Amino acid sequence: MGAENLDNEASAVFRQGTVIPAHPLALDEHRRLDERRMAALTRYYCEAGAGGSAAGVHTTLQLIHSSHAAAFGVRSVSLLAGRTPLSVLVTNFNTDGLNHREVETFLHEFGHALHGVLSRTRYASQGGTSVERDFVEAPSQMYEEWGRKLEPLRLLRRYCTGCPEIDEALVKRLHAARSFGRGILYGRQHLYAAYDMALFGEREADPMQTWIRMEGETPAGYVPGTQFPGTFGHLVGGYGAGYYGYMWSEVIALDMLSRFGRNLMNPAVGRRFRELILARGGEEPAKVMVREFLGRDPSPEAFFEEITGQRGN
Ligand SMILES: [Zn+2]
Repeated sequence: MGAENLDNEASAVFRQGTVIPAHPLALDEHRRLDERRMAALTRYYCEAGAGGSAAGVHTTLQLIHSSHAAAFGVRSVSLLAGRTPLSVLVTNFNTDGLNHREVETFLHEFGHALHGVLSRTRYASQGGTSVERDFVEAPSQMYEEWGRKLEPLRLLRRYCTGCPEIDEALVKRLHAARSFGRGILYGRQHLYAAYDMALFGEREADPMQTWIRMEGETPAGYVPGTQFPGTFGHLVGGYGAGYYGYMWSEVIALDMLSRFGRNLMNPAVGRRFRELILARGGEEPAKVMVREFLGRDPSPEAFFEEITGQRGN
């Protein structure tokens, strides 16, 4: 399918008034994409135009020319209305092959898509990822682990005959590489979350002065002339007072993961996760669903093992 067709399809969707036109630059960028991806995009526009969310399409167009990967719940399930769910992954992966970080990213975003399409809620408003913000990343963060363990990684060869064999030694090296600098990573995430909270506290706080003080209290200190707050888009992008959710989701993700024990490919636990977590969307508070899945109260133990480098590979 050619570029003109894609433009026609896209502008047809615009004419229907179902999307807010994105910046024209994004459409220019489309022309540089290969035919296969353009065909997929066109199908997506048609699907979305037929009953999807305007916001989803708009965001997609904007993301096409960035390096992001993202999942969009275009249409939420509703058993009541007999509505089937539709989720879309928008990625800019290297078509020659994925590096390990991309595999993790793919599994993460695919986790969001699974949350959407395996959802079986009565109402659309409770479908899939319509859960508490500080829980929404948990299933996806859990699925990243499938890119780090030998059993699932080994399966890649079934679908990719030219891919190199992945053995225990390589998985160990991946684990070691990932463990490098973890302290800095978590220290930084904690600082970002605490800073976010400081700005959304009861009293008004000067963003720059608060940052200089807080970063100044870390071992590395504040670097004069830098202006991190101006780049911290989460503060105004819907994550204000919620940035902590990334780490909190990881606490829950690792706790849920522990239910799989040493076998990520355990179909019984997988089914249980699907039925008790993914299928229920936001029908129940996350803490109720997580407790049912775990069969006990949630615990931060696995998270503390992770950040201290003691969680097994
Ligand atoms: Zn995510």
